[in-house]
Amino acid sequence: MNGNNLDKKILDRKIVVIGGGPAGTKAALMIADLGGEVLLIDENPYIGGQLVKQTHKFFGSEELYCGLRGFEIAKILEEEIKKRENIELLLNACAVGLYLENDKKVIAVIKEDGLIRVNTDVLILATGAYENFLLFENNDLPGVYGAGAVQTLVNQYGVRPGKSCLMVGSGNIGLIVSYQLLQAGIEVKAVIEILPKVSGWYVHYAKLKRCGVPILTSHTIVKAIGKDYVTGAVIAKVNKNFKIIKGSEKRLKVDFICLAVGLTPFADLLWQVNGKIKYVPELGGFVPYYDENYETSIRNIFVCGDVSGIEEASTAMMEGEIAGISAYERIYGENEKTKELKEEKKKYLHHLRKGPHSKKILIGLKKLRDDN
Ligand SMILES: Cc1cc2nc3c(=O)[nH]c(=O)nc-3n(C[C@H](O)[C@H](O)[C@H](O)COP(=O)(O)OP(=O)(O)OC[C@H]3O[C@@H](n4cnc5c(N)ncnc54)[C@H](O)[C@@H]3O)c2cc1C
Repeated sequence: MNGNNLDKKILDRKIVVIGGGPAGTKAALMIADLGGEVLLIDENPYIGGQLVKQTHKFFGSEELYCGLRGFEIAKILEEEIKKRENIELLLNACAVGLYLENDKKVIAVIKEDGLIRVNTDVLILATGAYENFLLFENNDLPGVYGAGAVQTLVNQYGVRPGKSCLMVGSGNIGLIVSYQLLQAGIEVKAVIEILPKVSGWYVHYAKLKRCGVPILTSHTIVKAIGKDYVTGAVIAKVNKNFKIIKGSEKRLKVDFICLAVGLTPFADLLWQVNGKIKYVPELGGFVPYYDENYETSIRNIFVCGDVSGIEEASTAMMEGEIAGISAYERIYGENEKTKELKEEKKKYLHHLRKGPHSKKILIGLKKLRDDN
């Protein structure tokens, strides 16, 4: 891109949300419903973030769309956003830079037709997460994918990346995507997991088991086989120190390999302004520090959703609402209604985290806030 040809524009706004996934969308809706004005930016041409590629039904409460499929929830959120006159949408727009100028947050946004400078008083980062990669021989061969990428190809674009797959990782994403591959007529030769037990929910594990997919715990990938593209994989057993047990190697004939080995919070914009970041493995690695109102170490910059710790869509939505109320209060002032609403949302979030699957998150949040 030739910088001299960029068509520079300047926008001045009070509240901006970056990221139109479940967290950012709910934050924007909350601000609008309280009567505030907000600009919502997303790099995609649509609203919904990860939801648009999720074809399975959600659990939880009616308020959080249980029984609906992810892409259906995304459609509802998009319709809701478009109904609000006080939400301005900037789609196909990627925020690539963040700067602090006096009390203003200055965002550099790239659109197809040029660069936009967005000045704002309050900013909510709801940028989600990116997929982790794994080190093994030949991991750069075409045919080695992230699970999210495969989900996009299969569920969003109707493209099968191959006929048979090895899934690496048995967290919820590995299990859910494996099932979706079966639904698309792709053979899942095996799901392998380096830990001694499956890490995703039993309900997702059981579905795969019923379909006869081998789920091999204490196993890892050794290498991808192939010259120009993947034609197979070598897997092996590991001991309790996660070292490969010699002689246990096995070759699988597959034409693609899918990595579902975790996500990392997408906090790059906060790094740019020197926001405080802590390493908390339970929340997904390097994660922004934030308080109970979702404010980061930089006044008037808030976070919510996966960028504040890898969890799931229901909690992302609740966090979005809390961050939305906090952001609204900064511009329009706190009142009885906002205070009550925020307490109600916090209680609900606490309730959502009562199950055994949330233990890790609660430990992570404690670590994040310890010693500030
Ligand atoms: C494969 C997969 C399966 C899942 N299955 C489930 C499930 O069954 N149930 C469940 O509850 N959860 C599930 N989740 C998790 C759930 O989807 C996420 O927790 C949730 O989407 C997080 O919401 P978010 O709004 O924080 O992030 P996202 O949904 O990732 O949204 C972030 C948005 O921000 C945009 N963005 C990022 N950076 C920028 C930038 N610089 N400029 C402009 N836009 C930007 C992104 O493009 C994206 O649209 C799954 C996740 C994955 C990846």
